[in-house]
Amino acid sequence: MKIGTEHVECAICGCFDYKVIGQGPDYEFDTSRDVWQSVECTGCGHLFLNPRPTIDNAKTIYPSDYYPPLDFSSGYRRKYWQSELYWRNRVTQA
Ligand SMILES: [Zn+2]
Repeated sequence: MKIGTEHVECAICGCFDYKVIGQGPDYEFDTSRDVWQSVECTGCGHLFLNPRPTIDNAKTIYPSDYYPPLDFSSGYRRKYWQSELYWRNRVTQA
């Protein structure tokens, strides 16, 4: 199954320039055989997936048994988890 993607700018600084730092398929959930690339923004160093899956593919990329391997010992991780729950609720309501 080919996942639809979109190229995006850095969510932190809006820069469109980046360098590829790694690539590979979805090793954990094997949702597709597509190769994904992690990039580093040349403007601010933010790491993200680019191109990223479009919103229409969120249910495929985040299967029902998806969970982020987090502990709740830091405020950052708690905030990330809350964001993940918000995202999941939006996807399941679509
Ligand atoms: Zn940036």
